[in-house]
Amino acid sequence: MKKFDYQIKNDKKVYDIPKDICKEMFRRADEAMKNCFPEPNKGFAVTVLTDKGNIYEGVSYNSDTYTLTMHSEATALAHAVIHGETNIIAITGWNCHICKQLIWESSLRSNIDVMIIWEEDNRISKEPISSMMPYPWPEKLEKPSK
Ligand SMILES: [Zn+2]
Repeated sequence: MKKFDYQIKNDKKVYDIPKDICKEMFRRADEAMKNCFPEPNKGFAVTVLTDKGNIYEGVSYNSDTYTLTMHSEATALAHAVIHGETNIIAITGWNCHICKQLIWESSLRSNIDVMIIWEEDNRISKEPISSMMPYPWPEKLEKPSK
């Protein structure tokens, strides 16, 4: 188990994700591509990082109806929850806006400003979910669950 440094900004924890952990998240997401459903390597894969230092993969799970397709972010969040972990501190991106909403809601419940991390031209970029939700809904939870 690993602990990460964080700062409090706007009443939320904002974690500092070390570069080696980011690299490991990208590596595991790439590796998970073979498990896209139903066709290997056809779809998307992401990983989430929890405050305990655990990484969980998610892969897209396609339905023939299309509407019922689950995005890799949704399955990654569910993967963490299945293991009893709801304190998501980072997720690999890019993410579609449906998934940004899910990540935002996770952030509201955990009071952690989930860091979106992505790699472009061999450079790692990080941006908290709050900065990607300029007019969020809901703005805050009616009744905080914690
Ligand atoms: Zn999505």
